[in-house]
Amino acid sequence: MSTPDALVIEADDLLRVYNAGGLQVQALQGLDLRVRRGEIVALVGPSGAGKSTLMSALGGLDRPSAGRLVVDGRDLQKLSPMQLTSYRREQVGFVWQQTSRNLLPYLSGRDNIELLLSLSGTAPADQAAWVDELLDAVAMREHAGRTLGELSGGQQQRIAIACALANRPVLLLGDEPTGEVDWQTAAAILRLFDEVRRRYGTTIVMVTHDPRVAAAADRVIDIRDGRSSSELRNRAAADEPRETWIVDASGRIQLPIEFRQALGIGRRAVLTRVDDMIRITPVPGDDHTTIRRTGMDDPVLIADHLYDDRSAQRERWRWLRGMFRWRRR
Ligand code: ADP
Repeated sequence: MSTPDALVIEADDLLRVYNAGGLQVQALQGLDLRVRRGEIVALVGPSGAGKSTLMSALGGLDRPSAGRLVVDGRDLQKLSPMQLTSYRREQVGFVWQQTSRNLLPYLSGRDNIELLLSLSGTAPADQAAWVDELLDAVAMREHAGRTLGELSGGQQQRIAIACALANRPVLLLGDEPTGEVDWQTAAAILRLFDEVRRRYGTTIVMVTHDPRVAAAADRVIDIRDGRSSSELRNRAAADEPRETWIVDASGRIQLPIEFRQALGIGRRAVLTRVDDMIRITPVPGDDHTTIRRTGMDDPVLIADHLYDDRSAQRERWRWLRGMFRWRRR
């Protein structure tokens, strides 16, 4: 068990390369991340930036191709497949956007939680008090006997959170956990997350596209092109900067594509030290139209002289065919 303020997540230089139909996709490209015990962190960023890939790695559902990933002192890259399975069952809780993915619909809320506890080998005698406590924590004790069809979306998500907490995980992962409920319900779920981290010291990492949800986190990390690019502290002290750019373990910093385009910074830049500042300026004549985002849904700027339109189109078709084959497997 970690002590307060201890690092629960330490990710260094994470790399994840997918092979899709003979084409390599670099979903994580040297990602660094540090999260403390009891922190609530929101991951934001454009579609295709690598957020889900990172969540799968954190949840032990997938293994990065390279890099170091330590969660609560366990080096996930070194765990055997069996150890990774028990990590996934015992150390992590998942709350997905679709409640159907979190829960068994024909069971009551209480039965859902009890089933999970039985599967993890908790003796029935030890279960009752803990199930009651969990139901109280998510304010669902009085509705616990209802099947999920009799509950609203928000109530189902509360039961899902209780289920995710059943095995006392050190880390709770939420993939758009408020994506399918109205804002009032979302706000209640966010208050619940805050309560959970206070009560149990659980570290919470969630992916969101909703700025209001991100605003409820302690830190918002912007993932760009498979790396942590910048972070925003919602509760920064007066003498702390609110928004910072992440410098990775090798000293790399990701210049935002908007700045690069505006200043015409291509593949090289000139760094000049000016007193206590570093000035970054473009190299005259550099071609900045080669700037490229990896996210498939983002504008991909590819210089005409590097890839003509037809070969880029062929490349995209091969990629899509690969994805289709992969999804059917
Ligand atoms: P996000 O969650 O930020 O939308 P993802 O982690 O889902 O991003 O994806 C990052 C990149 O990796 C994207 O280009 C995506 O198409 C690709 N990708 C994700 N999963 C797979 C997979 N299983 N096989 C091939 N490519 C994948």
